[in-house]
Amino acid sequence: MKTIVLKFGGTSVGNIDRIKKVANIVGSYRKKNFGVIVVSSAMSGTTNSLIKKTKQLSNNFDPAEYDVLLSSGEQVACALIAGRLKHLGYKARSWMSWQLPIFTDGPHSAARIVKIDKNKILKFINIGGIPVVSGFQGVNQDNRITTLGRGGTDATAIMLAKFFDASECVIYTDVDGVYTTDPRNHLKAKKINKISYDEMLEMASLGAKVMQPTSVQDAKLNNISFSVKSSFIKKKGTLITSNKKAFSDQIITGITSTKNDSKITMVGVKDKPGVAASIFKPLSLNQINVDMVVQNISLNSKETDMTFTIKSEDLKKTEKIIKQNKKISFRKFTHDSNVSKVSIIGVGMITTPGITYRMFQALASKKINIMVISTSEIKISVLISNKHVKKAIAVLHKEFKLD
Ligand code: ADP
Ligand code: ASP
Ligand code: MG
Repeated sequence: MKTIVLKFGGTSVGNIDRIKKVANIVGSYRKKNFGVIVVSSAMSGTTNSLIKKTKQLSNNFDPAEYDVLLSSGEQVACALIAGRLKHLGYKARSWMSWQLPIFTDGPHSAARIVKIDKNKILKFINIGGIPVVSGFQGVNQDNRITTLGRGGTDATAIMLAKFFDASECVIYTDVDGVYTTDPRNHLKAKKINKISYDEMLEMASLGAKVMQPTSVQDAKLNNISFSVKSSFIKKKGTLITSNKKAFSDQIITGITSTKNDSKITMVGVKDKPGVAASIFKPLSLNQINVDMVVQNISLNSKETDMTFTIKSEDLKKTEKIIKQNKKISFRKFTHDSNVSKVSIIGVGMITTPGITYRMFQALASKKINIMVISTSEIKISVLISNKHVKKAIAVLHKEFKLD
């Protein structure tokens, strides 16, 4: 019997009608004689409201209790799905990750799945049962509940597909596939039929919320192809897989933008060897992720201006660390939270010259000022003002013939 993993996201299980639809989708695979493993997120809005409660109690809520609390949302959704499946006459039951268990490594709220004990699920599938497993969570070596980061049910699905050697893994969500850019922000976005792990990983990391970045990394590392489909309408989705050759002749595959970035500038930093390390080391020790960096050397080369971006939620902590850092001296500290990183992604840029120029020219034609630039082999990112994001995506989408 072939095994298939079906993942349902928050909106797909967001209300009673949708849960009924989900049970029907699951049932249709079971009727085709697949061994079906269901994995579900919490109903949409649940995880956010749980996070809000912790913030009302403490600005430093205990990380282990935070994960116990957040994991509870998935329990509700799994019980509702399993209950509906039983109502329809299927053999079904829910499993919380700790009951299997799903073992994780790494810190609370950002744990990674390392192993899944398959026994209970295998036995249940073999007698025709449909297991409904809670996404987004596991247990660590101390037997405490951990969570896998926001959107982490995607990672549970990929790792279930790996450990159960599934023939298919389908990520059911509220859009009918991965688009050239977020279809909610740009009406001319086009569905992509097939995309490589590398491009999907860049898109996810650079703001395409449709997949959690670590889940795509897990898929790539383990060569788990998967598809993204809609749980609302029956339509062909997007296949994410390894690329032996390019899937299309498009140079650019997708365009993304971020929310919640902040730009920091330190003006008049005394320039001496090791100064960048002195600024960034304490940030990294405090788990603050520094993204784009530019350093301008002054004419007399005694001073430098350092600009970099971080997540806005880290802004207060970053300011405090920098102002308390005795190893550096500077004249002024400024920050700007009205910025966004817009990126173009595509394996085609490796072999096509002039892409950087075309991107900058297109933005200039709309009078959009670029503050910071960063590039890799398959992406170019620019930092621009928040208010220009929609316009930037539209002009780039057109420039690279994605409309
Ligand atoms: P789920 O709750 O099913 O995990 P998410 O909200 O995490 O769903 O992800 C789906 C959302 O991702 C869509 O509603 C869409 O607005 C957003 N999104 C962002 N970029 C893209 C893209 N390039 N293609 C498709 N969806 C995207
Ligand atoms: N419920 C979790 C979240 O909202 C995990 C997920 O939806 O994948 O982040
Ligand atoms: Mg998601």
